[in-house]
Amino acid sequence: MKLVLATRNQGKVRELSELLSPLGYEVVSLNQYPGVPEIIEDGATFKENAVKKATVVARYTGQMALADDSGLEVDYLGGAPGVHSARFAGERHDDRANNEKLLRLLAGVPPERRTARFRCVVAVATPTGQVFTAEGACEGVIADRPRGEGGFGYDPLFYVPAWGKTFAELEPAVKNQISHRGRALALIREILAGLRRGPDTV
Ligand code: IMP
Repeated sequence: MKLVLATRNQGKVRELSELLSPLGYEVVSLNQYPGVPEIIEDGATFKENAVKKATVVARYTGQMALADDSGLEVDYLGGAPGVHSARFAGERHDDRANNEKLLRLLAGVPPERRTARFRCVVAVATPTGQVFTAEGACEGVIADRPRGEGGFGYDPLFYVPAWGKTFAELEPAVKNQISHRGRALALIREILAGLRRGPDTV
């Protein structure tokens, strides 16, 4: 059974594919459906955006779809960039510019006031209109300079005290285990397993 990932973000595609691989789905990305239109993420919450993306892609492709809407909430910035994380420094979805803007806004702020969390809502939609969601979060601190080469987005600045490393310094398997995305997917795993057995088992 096919599961279409409702994203063109290669970082998300990589992590979601790894996390979903044990479930026995044929996981394909939106790149295999070039005709699917750009989906405007205009929801006020991660959940609204995730449900919208999954629903549109399931309807358009006629396959089950899984969407992830996620972002970084920085306490010192009142929860920004939040749902605007991808385009924090402009419409170009430029990770480097986003990280530079974050560091600029936090210049001189001491570590104890640089607390933050990643949040993720995963939505699964079926072609017949059923929708399921799950949420995950991961707490951390915004570092004062980028560290590490792995991951994507804000990973080089997201320091996890329990591991003494940024997300970009952690092994991918460790990030997947503790991340907002990994936690949301762990919660929706049973739903996905049930849908694979047949819609009436969920
Ligand atoms: P969206 O869910 O497409 O709105 O984009 C989420 C944005 O949040 C990404 O483009 C990244 O900037 C950021 N983000 C979400 N998850 C992660 C992560 O695991 N690591 C680093 N940045 C992330």
